[in-house]
Amino acid sequence: MALDAGWAERWVRRTADAVADAKDELTELDRQIGDGDHGENLHRGFQAVVARLDDAAAERGGDEADDERTVGDVLKLVATTLMSTVGGASGPLYGTAYLRASKVSGRAQIDPPAVVAVLEAALEGVSSRGKATVGEKTMVDAWQAAVDAAEAAAGDGGSEVDVLRAAAEAADTAATGTIPLVATKGRASYLGERSAGHEDPGARSTALVLGAAMAAALS
Ligand code: ADP
Ligand code: MG
Ligand code: MG
Repeated sequence: MALDAGWAERWVRRTADAVADAKDELTELDRQIGDGDHGENLHRGFQAVVARLDDAAAERGGDEADDERTVGDVLKLVATTLMSTVGGASGPLYGTAYLRASKVSGRAQIDPPAVVAVLEAALEGVSSRGKATVGEKTMVDAWQAAVDAAEAAAGDGGSEVDVLRAAAEAADTAATGTIPLVATKGRASYLGERSAGHEDPGARSTALVLGAAMAAALS
């Protein structure tokens, strides 16, 4: 099944649902090693994104044939909305991720190599904004694992769904893998050794985002 603007919109709406469901869990993770606002921050942002998608759909008058958007158009709307509504570290980080991703997806449909390019661009956005590398117990750990797995799946000739499934599963494993790590970037780094033993909230939310991308490709 082709990944088009409709998929991108389903991805974003599913992300909003997943974040709403996990809001308390994300906030609790952030309470352990940060300031306890990650769930609220992302929930506020994705609710604003959904409101803007609803407005845009109403303008098209429900006629999907009038949907001339590219995948990138949808991701750009996410980027600008998150940047203006999510405070804290994660707003600019996710905002930059979606903005970079939008720049490599200005097409009606994207194929498996282009899915990899979207994930790579998102990772580059997070890395250039936050200057974290793998192993610093941040969302970079989940994004990098997702990119590596997506590249491997696309290299094996996998479908769009195969690539997204590989990315989502790798991000989930990497999020769990942040538990024993000592944070060296972000608020959690203020705790030093005491940050070990807790999952990084941003790595967990990245796994939710990528899980939603896969689920949207199946629906
Ligand atoms: P804040 O820390 O400002 O309250 P959030 O709680 O919304 O912001 O987001 C915290 C998450 O942001 C962390 O769990 C981590 O994954 C991510 N993060 C923080 N700083 C960085 C960084 N420099 N690079 C990458 N990710 C970061
Ligand atoms: Mg926080
Ligand atoms: Mg905060």
